[in-house]
Amino acid sequence: MELPRKWYNILPDLPKPLPPLRDPRGAEDEFSRIELLLKVLPQKLIWQENTVERWVPIPDEVLEAYKEIGRPTPLYRARRLEKLLDTPARIYFKYEGATPTGSHKINTAIPQAYYAKEEGVEGLTTETGAGQWGTALALAGAMYEMPVKVFMVKSSFYQKPYRKVIMRLYGADVTPSPSEETEYGRKVLKENPDHPGSLGVAMSEAIEYALKRNWRYGVGSVLNFVILHQTIIGLEAMKQMEEIGEDPDVLVACIGGGSNFGGLIYPFMGQELQRSKNPKDKRRRYIGVTPSEVPKFSKGKYEYDFADSAGLLPQIKMHTLGHEFVPPPIYAGGLRYHGVAPSISLLYEEGWIEMKEYDQKECFEAGQLFAKAEGIVPAPETNHAIKAVIDLALEAKKKNEEMVILFNFSGHGLLDLSNYEKVLGL
Ligand SMILES: *Cc1c(COP(=O)(O)O)cnc(C)c1O
Repeated sequence: MELPRKWYNILPDLPKPLPPLRDPRGAEDEFSRIELLLKVLPQKLIWQENTVERWVPIPDEVLEAYKEIGRPTPLYRARRLEKLLDTPARIYFKYEGATPTGSHKINTAIPQAYYAKEEGVEGLTTETGAGQWGTALALAGAMYEMPVKVFMVKSSFYQKPYRKVIMRLYGADVTPSPSEETEYGRKVLKENPDHPGSLGVAMSEAIEYALKRNWRYGVGSVLNFVILHQTIIGLEAMKQMEEIGEDPDVLVACIGGGSNFGGLIYPFMGQELQRSKNPKDKRRRYIGVTPSEVPKFSKGKYEYDFADSAGLLPQIKMHTLGHEFVPPPIYAGGLRYHGVAPSISLLYEEGWIEMKEYDQKECFEAGQLFAKAEGIVPAPETNHAIKAVIDLALEAKKKNEEMVILFNFSGHGLLDLSNYEKVLGL
C-alpha cells in the first residue's frame, strides 16, 4: 500500500473554532508563556499548531523514515477474539505496536526531529515518565543524528530500568530528574534531596536545558501538531479498510492526552464533519476510553487550565481535572495526564464523541483475554480500548447486530510484563 502523502488537520472542519491559547500573567510571572512556547519549539511546528489548512504535506524525508520504521503498520482482524466472545461483530485493529519503539509515539517524534534538524537546531530535550515518549524521541534523534537528552522522573528511572536501557541503546543521554544539571533541578534538590521527581519537574528541567542552548523541546501529546502527525494512523487504516470493503461503525481508542485517539478517528470523523456539523447526522460512533482512576470526562471541567503540571506552558481550554491533580499510581502511565487535547474536548462538548471509563483490574483482564486470543500482549494503556471493544462486541451479540469495530492498538506491553504479574497475580 502507498503511504498517504498528507496529514489531515481537523481544525478547519470543527463545528466551532478552537478557543485560542491563553497566557495568564500573575505578579510572580516574569515571563510570557506564549513567548516561551515560541522559543522552545521548531518554527514549523508552531505553524502546524495554528494552521487551518485541511491537508498538510508530509515531507519526503519523513515519508522515507515512516517506511523505515515499518509504516504502513498492519491492520488485523481479531478473528479469534470474535470467536471467543461468540459475537457477530467484526473486530479490526490498527497495530501500532509494530513500530520499533512499540507504540504510536514515533509517528510524531520523527517529524519533530526532522523539522528541528532542518532549522539548524543542535539537539532535543524532553521529559518522560513511563518512558514510551522518551524512547520514541531517542530513536528519532538517532535517525537524524541529533543528540537527545531525556529527563526521566526519578522514581520511574529506578522502577522501569529497561526503558532507560532502550533510550541509551539509541544513544540518548538519560538523566534522573530532579538532577544537578539545571538550576531548577538544583533548587528542588536543595529543598528536598530525596525528591522522587514528577513530570512537572522533569519538564521544567528539559525546557531550561533547551533554552540555554540551540536546542528544542519535544512534545509527546495534547498539542494540535502532535495529533496532526498521528493522523497517519487513521489515513492508513481508512485505505486498508477500503481495500477489504469494510467501513467501521464504531471507532475506539484510549485517551491520555488524546494523540492516538485523534490520530485514528479524525480522518474518519472529518469525512462526516465535512457533510454536516450536526452530530445527529453522523453514521459512526467514536468512543474514547479513560481510566476510572483519572476521570477527566465524568469529573473534570471544560475550562482553561495549564497544559502542563508545572504551569510553564500556556493555558488551553480542555476537559481537565486541574493541572495539580495527582493521579493514582496506575500502571497505564500514558493515561495519567490531567486533561484532554482541546480539539477532542470541543468535539465531546458538541456531541461528536462518547466517553467510557474502566478501572485498572478489568482492563488488565481484558488484556489477558486479548493476549490469549490473538497472541499479542497489549500495553496497559491499550487494554482500556480493548475492554471497551469487548463490551461493544458483547452488546452486539445480545442484539444480534452486525457491527464493524475498529480500534487503535496503541502499543505492545512486552516491557510491562511485571505490571501484568502484579495486577493479575501471574
Ligand atoms: C502514550 C501512550 C498512550 C496515551 O497517549 P495519547 O497521547 O493519549 O495517545 C496510549 N498508549 C500508549 C501505548 C502510549 O505509549
